[in-house]
Amino acid sequence: MAMMDKGSHLPLRISRLFKRAIKQEKLAHAYLLNWRNQSIKEEITLNIAKTILCNDIDINNADDELMPCGACESCKKFSANVHPDLIIVRPDGSFIKINQIREIINKFAYPPYFDKRVCIIYDCHRFNQEAANTILKTLEEPNSDNYFFLCTNSMDMLLPTIISRCQALNMPLFFDISEEDMQNLSLPPFFLPLIKYLGITSREELSALKETDFFNIRQQILEFIENKSNYSMLELLNLSDKISKSATMTILVLKMLLTINRDLLMICNGINNVLNCEVMTFINEKENKFIPEKILEHNIWLNNAFYLIDRNINKSLIIEKSLAFYCNSI
Ligand SMILES: [Zn+2]
Repeated sequence: MAMMDKGSHLPLRISRLFKRAIKQEKLAHAYLLNWRNQSIKEEITLNIAKTILCNDIDINNADDELMPCGACESCKKFSANVHPDLIIVRPDGSFIKINQIREIINKFAYPPYFDKRVCIIYDCHRFNQEAANTILKTLEEPNSDNYFFLCTNSMDMLLPTIISRCQALNMPLFFDISEEDMQNLSLPPFFLPLIKYLGITSREELSALKETDFFNIRQQILEFIENKSNYSMLELLNLSDKISKSATMTILVLKMLLTINRDLLMICNGINNVLNCEVMTFINEKENKFIPEKILEHNIWLNNAFYLIDRNINKSLIIEKSLAFYCNSI
């Protein structure tokens, strides 16, 4: 936990926001931290918690920066990783389960050791149904001393009822992939905006992505959409099978389809700023027709599909339906 000692900074925008909220005594009881990176920056989340729990926070200084004092009892216990008012929950296996939420509720029945309590829930899109229903009740009836920080990097997979009970904060996007990194992995630089959109933000994540079949699959999907009228059902089934072998690939492909739909809508509106430049070429060359209303309908389906992935719905069927849409309707 040494990383949280003094010298650890919050991004300025986040710092300002919490400083104002603490000063005006308007801290929300549940924040939803929307991380667009593939991995959540846990040290920033912990630093927010440490700041909120600090017993000697200086909110009247002129700086925009908000820092825990580092010296009070709360800060000391936090740094020693023994803070009695900090609860951290992570998925147990694939899901956050009901017994984990019950444990939180039991702790919440008692007043905090100091004056506030913070509960951080990582990967909050992984509540199972029972856990989600129970946490919803807790979020609905907040207790004045308790603060929730729900973290996700998959907003798409989160239940809308949970989103609506939290104050959602878009966390800064950390992106450190350069054109040179792309070239080193033999990837064309024009993929950069797409990579960013998919939430791949570090060199390690990019190398890992390169190791998968993603770029081949992407190519096949583009060809499929381009030749939608004469694509065989068998090829569609094979492609769906291949993608759905892994949940990660299934999610990446769904996200990619959203980028393709975004591009199609852009082009329909005469805007050429696309993430998949091949789409531009085949629309212009082949005079493919796409109907904006149908694309929006497809987006609704895709957004729902994210919920289904983790809930044991046949992934191959989800992909098949998501792709078939391009032949049948659009
Ligand atoms: Zn302190």
